[in-house]
Parts: sequence; structure tokens; C-alpha cells
Amino acid sequence: MININIENQKVILNNSFELIVKREDLIHPFISGNKFRKLKYNLLRAQEINANALLTFGGAYSNHIAAVAYAGKAYGYKTVGIIRGEELQSRTDLNPTLAFAKRCGMNFKFISRQEYRNKADDNFIDKLKTEFQAFYLIPEGGTNTLAIKGCEEILEPEDLSFDYVCCAVGTGGTISGIINASNDNQNILGFPALKGDFLQQDIRKFANRDNWELITDYHFGGYGKIKPELISFINEFKKRYNIPLDPIYTGKMMYGIFDLIEKEFFPPNSKILAIHTGGLQGIAGVNELLKRKNQPLIDV
Ligand SMILES: *Cc1c(COP(=O)(O)O)cnc(C)c1O
Repeated sequence: MININIENQKVILNNSFELIVKREDLIHPFISGNKFRKLKYNLLRAQEINANALLTFGGAYSNHIAAVAYAGKAYGYKTVGIIRGEELQSRTDLNPTLAFAKRCGMNFKFISRQEYRNKADDNFIDKLKTEFQAFYLIPEGGTNTLAIKGCEEILEPEDLSFDYVCCAVGTGGTISGIINASNDNQNILGFPALKGDFLQQDIRKFANRDNWELITDYHFGGYGKIKPELISFINEFKKRYNIPLDPIYTGKMMYGIFDLIEKEFFPPNSKILAIHTGGLQGIAGVNELLKRKNQPLIDV
């Protein structure tokens, strides 16, 4: 399908720790990191059933929306994005994420936040079927059973020697795949990018082991919430290690990992693998917002 070229990048190596960043952000220029993993088997299924359109859901800055739009263009599907926020309808200037998706040919339907809550209801989906005719449905964030199967391919045999595997959590699909592919003696740490107690349950639906834990102290106030200390951490990290991080997911995770190292959460000599799930396309949009608020920007 697409050539995968993953580079593991060693970040810190001192007497007591080894932290390696697995650069899933590099596996595809437009279908970012874990979104590529989540789409892989869904696209194969869509092909099997001769679908000619993909329909999915997301917020205005969604990495998943960008990924589906590009996949549609690359593999010949029409794409429909059901976007949270009807106020966006009247905007003439699309943010960089939606502008990219539009260039890829995606059609949008903007709906209210209230209506968006029905995104998984049968009634709502039936209405969409009437409006848009036949489509292959991909849920919000791309998380379904086939997505978990794709995310099980993130860990490779040599990754099973790490004591800790860390990843950012949105819907919980990615970490579920990682858990399923891990060894019982590994600890899988999830860093939620949002507030919410539902995640534990959602992950339990897909994960077949108990060797995981959610570290809930690093969401910075909730989904998409960004504080200046997070921005300066991301900029500092890029300067020192030459690895860009996004402010919604991987920046928060890495901030958390560094904080936990400082707090001696990890026993001496731990080997830690941090999954870089991508999301870098979101930086441009976030910088636009930060600029409007006169806050420091993410270096690009
Ligand atoms: C979507 C996304 C996540 C969250 O993945 P889930 O499977 O929804 O938990 C993490 N990191 C990045 C960069 C993402 O785009």
C-alpha cells in the first residue's frame, strides 16, 4: 500500500534511563502516525465492499479529518466530513486543517455541538445515509475494531524489551492496540489529552490485558487546552532533540513523561518507549489561534 519507514530516535541516554521515541509521525507525510494505523484495515474493508465514499466525524482541527480527506484523494473515494460546530458554516476562511481537507476534495457538513453528540446513534446515521447515499462509515477519531487491529502493528518485536510504553490517548483506540500487542511484563502508560472518566471503560472494551494505566495529570485543562508552559516545553524539546511535538497530544504526553522522570516515578534503569503518534498538521491551526490571543507560538 504505502511504504513505511519508521525511525526510532534515541532521545536521552544517561545512567539511569533510556527513553526512545518511536517516530510514527514519519510513516506518512499526510496520513499522520496513528491515523494511518487506524485507517489501514478500514480502507482495505472499504475496498472489499466496493464502497465509493467514506464518511466520518471530527472537530475543526482534527488530525483524523485531515487523514481521511487525504486517504480519499489518494485511493479514489469521495469523502464527507461531519464537523462539530455549525458556526464554522458561515466562515469564509477555513482553518489550515479544513482548508487541507477541502483541497483533498472533502465535503463538509457542519453541525451543532448538541447534534454532534448523536454521532454514534443509529437514527442519526440513518439520516446521513438518506442525505449522502451509500458510504463506508468511520467513527470519530477512526476508532473501531479494524482500527485497533491496525494499531496492534505499532509495536514491533524489538519493542517488547521496553519496561514502559507511553502513548497519548484521545478515544483510546491506539493504546488498546498497543496493549494487545504488548507483553504482560510491560507497563503501558496512557496520557489522556482530555478530561473524562469514560476512557477507562472504552479502553476495556478493546484491550485484552490489564498491564496499563492512565496518567490523568497532564491534560492541561482539557481537550485542545494549551498553556504557555506547554508551548515552551514543546519549543525547548524541539531545540534539544530535533523532534517536533504537537500541542494537542504528543506534547502533553512528553511533558508528562519528563515530569514523571523528575518525580522518580520510573525505577532506575527503566527502558521507556514513547510513541510519537503524529498530529503535526495541527500546529498551523493552533498557531493561528495563539497569535490571535497574543500568546507565544510553537516554533516551526
Ligand atoms: C488521534 C490522536 C491520538 C489519540 O488516538 P486515540 O486512538 O483516539 O486514543 C493521539 N495522538 C495523535 C497525534 C492523534 O492525532
